[in-house]
Amino acid sequence: MNTTPTRAPVDRSLCAGPQPLTARLEPWMRDLLADHEVCRALIAEHGSPVNVIDTAPLARNIGELRAAAAAHGVDFEVYVARKANKALAVVDAARAAGAGVDVASDDELAQVLDRGVEPEKIILTSAVKPPATLRRALDAGVVVSLDNRDELDDLLAEAGAGGADVALRIAAQTAGVRPTRFGLAPAEWIEALGVAGDRVRVAGVHFHLHGYAAADRIAVLGEALAFVDRLRGHGHDVRFVDIGGGIPMTYLDDRTQWDEFWAAMRARRADLAAGGALTGELTWNDDPLGLDGSGGVYPFWQEATRGPWLEEVLTGRVGGTSVATALRERGLQLRCEPGRALLDGCGLTLASVAFRKKRADGVPLVGLHMNRTQMRSTSLDVLMDPLLVRPPDAAGADPVEAYLVGAYCIEDELILRRRLSFPAGVRRDDVVAFPNTGGYLMHIIESASHQIPLAANVIRRANGFEGDLIDGPVAGA
Ligand SMILES: *Cc1c(COP(=O)(O)O)cnc(C)c1O
Repeated sequence: MNTTPTRAPVDRSLCAGPQPLTARLEPWMRDLLADHEVCRALIAEHGSPVNVIDTAPLARNIGELRAAAAAHGVDFEVYVARKANKALAVVDAARAAGAGVDVASDDELAQVLDRGVEPEKIILTSAVKPPATLRRALDAGVVVSLDNRDELDDLLAEAGAGGADVALRIAAQTAGVRPTRFGLAPAEWIEALGVAGDRVRVAGVHFHLHGYAAADRIAVLGEALAFVDRLRGHGHDVRFVDIGGGIPMTYLDDRTQWDEFWAAMRARRADLAAGGALTGELTWNDDPLGLDGSGGVYPFWQEATRGPWLEEVLTGRVGGTSVATALRERGLQLRCEPGRALLDGCGLTLASVAFRKKRADGVPLVGLHMNRTQMRSTSLDVLMDPLLVRPPDAAGADPVEAYLVGAYCIEDELILRRRLSFPAGVRRDDVVAFPNTGGYLMHIIESASHQIPLAANVIRRANGFEGDLIDGPVAGA
């Protein structure tokens, strides 16, 4: 009888920052990470890193938003921002949940149509829209969110006499909301519509704001509703207002960890400025992670997420009434296009250990079969501790505090910029798991530089794993 255990609950103490940032895990993640053999087998079959996607949490996340809207009797629809994850399984899951999809490129549009998503459940919001993409949207009957007047001209050139149904993207004018490169001021749209005539039919008003503040959405909804009233006055049958994405989620459970991490970072900077603190750096070469004003990181801990956040928006005040009432009174559908907040809990990334060594000055390094574009967003770093998945019966190695480095031939090729503690060392057969990478982190800036192939995407199903269709030939392009 073989008594060797093959499964053991993943041990969070095997890897953590000196200031720990413990990631939330879904039950399916715990289940997978409890099985070192399965993790190793996925890497053996698909290469390292491998992205594992389970779309089950998507419907739950959509449901949380719907429940908040339903509680206020608001007509509501969710459009999953396709760019946050390229797996076609996400499109299928969105469709199965009755949700729509927000597409940001020609291939995204073609794929989503090809997967059978109904045209009225698609909105095209690409920042730049080639004529062929506009043509595809027109032919299919997909609403285009217009960004500017030149784009309007391009659309009308494609549309011919039949004209086009559009949403107008507005650039918020509200003081205090960060100026945006996207959309135009309502007054500018009114002027453009006057020139374009009745070939343009405005079906909706759209915006997408930087940041995550409910207060900003409430303020700009006020602008949007005033614009809807004007457009209706001009005879347009405006049916929806789309507040875009940026709905918050939290990667961490524990606010205290988040606060303590930043307190330690600030203390470290103060020590350095005072000429002290030569040892005990928290980040690679004492990277300030934006504390010097050089950029930002995603707020990996947030208080009001999804449902409670939407509740805050709907109960916000516009023109002497609540947002919910203002929408209901006008018979408007409220739409949103979250990416990250819907993919919360849908993915993780597994990588194998390539080497353990020291930098010239003795700083310990752990090399992974992975590069930094494979687990990163546009923000400066991912502030979650990875997990070490180890055979349950394996002996520990010498404790080490190390940085994770990757495959690109660049000195600053860090997978994570925080130093990590490995109290039982790192073994060559350990698997390093990065939790909750489904929203942006696994895909948004991945590159195949050095001709290293992109990571494979594997879908976790009730009865096993299968490759995602995006990794095969893409139909309908
Ligand atoms: C990126 C984007 C979204 C999704 O944003 P999240 O922060 O992932 O919710 C929605 N709408 C537009 C227009 C976008 O560009």
